Amino acid sequence: MSDAKSMNFCCYCGSALSLKRLQEEDVERLWCSACSVAHYKNPTVLVAAFLHYEDTMLWTQRGIEPFKGLWAFPAGFAECGESLQQAAARELREETGIDIPSKAMIPMSVSSVVPIDQIYVVFRYQCSEAMAAKLTAETQDWGWYKREEAPWSAMAHPESKALIEQVYSAVESQRFFFRIGEMSNSGNCHQSYTLLDKINH
Ligand SMILES: [Zn+2]
Repeated sequence: MSDAKSMNFCCYCGSALSLKRLQEEDVERLWCSACSVAHYKNPTVLVAAFLHYEDTMLWTQRGIEPFKGLWAFPAGFAECGESLQQAAARELREETGIDIPSKAMIPMSVSSVVPIDQIYVVFRYQCSEAMAAKLTAETQDWGWYKREEAPWSAMAHPESKALIEQVYSAVESQRFFFRIGEMSNSGNCHQSYTLLDKINH
């Protein structure tokens, strides 16, 4: 609960918070005795959108910090008031100008990154052509890359290389899967669930 120190005062009334163990819970919560409310800290959710066409995937070169100039995939934090699929479609649109219906986003994986209290939800969309992306404030270049051409040496998140390799394997074989598990500094640990039916649009 080291992160519990990050909030010292109640966001409603400004009173100092203390730690309190609520009934039937294992962990201590930040508690405002003036408001009689607990302030919960929960994991944040990020989404990513992998677009693929034949055996290529759409990579984007980041135009903003952090990792400006390095290569990644459209991704970002889910916002309040939108579904996970809507978040994935929005990030894709903001970073590439490509508009895909949110309900067409197909789930691929859910990863808990426990050390930093984040959850990554990855979606894919199989394109019928290699669509042109737009350069945006967030994206300074883009490209559809086969596995052997991909900018592996300039990845913004090299820790995700194993995941991306698995996505390429799925794209190349058209054998898709759903994975759930954990990512940490010591590596990734996921269980894969094969999808029985190929999903077409
Ligand atoms: Zn309060």
